[in-house]
This record gives sequence, structure tokens and C-alpha cells, in this order.
Amino acid sequence: MNPYTIFADIIAGAAPSSKVYEDDEVLAFMDIRPVTPGHVLVVPKVPAPSLADLDPALGGKLFQVGQRIAAALRGSEVAADGVNFFLADGVTAGQEVFHVHLHVIPRRPGDGFGLRARPTSPARADLDYLAGSIRGALT
Ligand code: AMP
Repeated sequence: MNPYTIFADIIAGAAPSSKVYEDDEVLAFMDIRPVTPGHVLVVPKVPAPSLADLDPALGGKLFQVGQRIAAALRGSEVAADGVNFFLADGVTAGQEVFHVHLHVIPRRPGDGFGLRARPTSPARADLDYLAGSIRGALT
């Protein structure tokens, strides 16, 4: 896979971005096509195409920075009264930019954002079976 993404240029300062936060490991900037006003992306500076390529410590850092930004979305002029985190890992999950990124999406009543899903009601035995399978695959 071609490792180049627009986020590499943003991190390098070669493409424009509206920065919210930066440290040695992480950059956060405004999404260019926000699903609600104040939609922020948090990215590792090291290019990891997918979660499997991301150092877990850095994954934790993305979440920590996301938490701080969530608080800022509530405390700033964005005036969010709810926040969603969203991360798409893989084409099927809706990932379009192959540089891991955490979406931090401020929520307001009636903002029109939502996930479409059809929850099911499996038997406990089916839940237990898949729980065992997932446990067995944990590394
Ligand atoms: P995903 O579908 O999870 O891969 O989301 C990719 C996100 O990156 C989308 O929400 C895009 O609007 C956003 N995006 C793409 N290019 C840029 C850019 N140059 N600056 C800011 N956000 C961008």
C-alpha cells in the first residue's frame, strides 16, 4: 500500500491545516469536512495505516488527547453538550485516509449526526461462544 496520505503533508507542514493541539507524538486539527461544527481529528505523527500498525502506547495517547479535546469542545465556543469518538479501521469500516485518526465529534441536539445500525438480540450461548473465540485471539 502507498504509505503517502494527505495527513503526512499536514504533519510536515506542507499542506494547510487548522491546528488544535500538537506535541512530539500527536497532532490534532480541524476536519476539512466536519459532520458537525468543531469536528476534530487526532493523528499520530508516525504514519500507521491501520490500528494493527499503531504502537498501543501511542493509541493510548490518541485517546488521552481526544479526552482533552472533548473537554475543550464543551468549554469553548463550540459549546458541545455531548461528544462522540469515532475511528474507522479498514475500508469496510469506512476508513478513507490510511493514517490512523480519531474523530472527535461535538454533539448538539438535533445536529443530524448518527450511526445507522440494526441491533440484534442473540442468545447468551451465542454471546459466550464469540466471547471465547475473541478471548482466544487476544495477543
Ligand atoms: P475516515 O473516513 O475515517 O478515513 O475519515 C477521513 C477524514 O479526513 C474525513 O472526515 C475527511 O473530511 C478528513 N480529511 C481529508 N482530507 C483532509 C484535510 N486535508 N484536512 C482535514 N481533514 C481532512
